[in-house]
Amino acid sequence: MQTKVWRVDPHSPDPSQIAEAAQAILAGQLVAFPTETVYGLGANAFNRDAVRRIFIAKGRPAQDPLIVHLASAALLPQVVRQIPPLAERLAALFWPGPLTLVLPKHPAIFDEITAALPTVAVRVPAHAVALELLRASGVPIVAPSANRFGHVSPTTAQHVLEDLEGVIEGVLDGGATTVGVESTVLDLTCSPPRLLRPGGVSLEALQAQIGEVLYTPRFTSAAEELAPQPSPGLLAKHYAPRAELWLFTGEREGVSGKMRQAAVELGKTGRRVGVLISEEQQGSFGDLAVEVYLLGSEKRLDDMAKRLYVGLRALDRQGVEVILAPEVVAEGLGLAIRDRLRRAATRVVE
Ligand code: AMP
Ligand code: MG
Repeated sequence: MQTKVWRVDPHSPDPSQIAEAAQAILAGQLVAFPTETVYGLGANAFNRDAVRRIFIAKGRPAQDPLIVHLASAALLPQVVRQIPPLAERLAALFWPGPLTLVLPKHPAIFDEITAALPTVAVRVPAHAVALELLRASGVPIVAPSANRFGHVSPTTAQHVLEDLEGVIEGVLDGGATTVGVESTVLDLTCSPPRLLRPGGVSLEALQAQIGEVLYTPRFTSAAEELAPQPSPGLLAKHYAPRAELWLFTGEREGVSGKMRQAAVELGKTGRRVGVLISEEQQGSFGDLAVEVYLLGSEKRLDDMAKRLYVGLRALDRQGVEVILAPEVVAEGLGLAIRDRLRRAATRVVE
């Protein structure tokens, strides 16, 4: 299969190209498109075969539910059985935006979408290309990240093609995404609400609006992964590069020293090493024969989030065998970065 690429302006995409992509969606085809978080792999939520094909294209296990994307909050009654007042409030505050709400599902929502759960995850993306595609197709679109399952999520159309060229019908290329990590997933079917996955909307921003939010990070073992998951982002090994990823935890000064030492030791064994670090750490590695990818300043967690997946893919492309990365602060977007690095890590160095 030839994967068609529509190159579009991210702010005002050409309506005729959007119309073609929307036709493809309505014909049951798979079309990847940019959102503000990462590229999604889109299918008509009301076409069961198209939904099934997403799992095949990604190699995604059937027990991982999909997020349903809507053109606006006004369409919620199409996919949700009952809309609690808290959902209305959060939608008004954060949509369009990187916040996914888990709500009781509408009977019209296929079990394939929700992994047979009684709930559905839903959001309105803040990206002109995504919104225009949703409007033009006139149906809700399910869209998991447009990568092979378990791999690093795509933040450019090129990344999508690296993973899925020849496997999907098309991709709308609207350049690099702006947030760079996935949406925050918030379960509103329990009280207080529970944060299932940290993402583009910070936990602090949610707490400021709605008060208490539960968050109990859980990183499952490989054996537990075989059991059904409440949410796919909770899988332990996920968002991972090909290279091994060693994550260094603990206080800042100590971390750079431990990473440096590990780089030196690995270098002696002839293994190719990459470091995924902040600008502030750069000085510790200048004299070493390692590939360096700078995430940006520690003061700009939004920049670090945006560069995270780009960096993991770039180091993979450079052929490094081990990537060394520090744990970042558990604040703002740092919580999402932490979560993704934990899940990508093959080893955690305390
Ligand atoms: P992604 O591949 O980034 O689209 O991953 C989908 C995300 O949606 C997962 O990480 C889950 O957290 C979330 N999700 C989807 N449906 C549900 C659901 N019914 N209950 C809880 N989480 C869900
Ligand atoms: Mg994903």
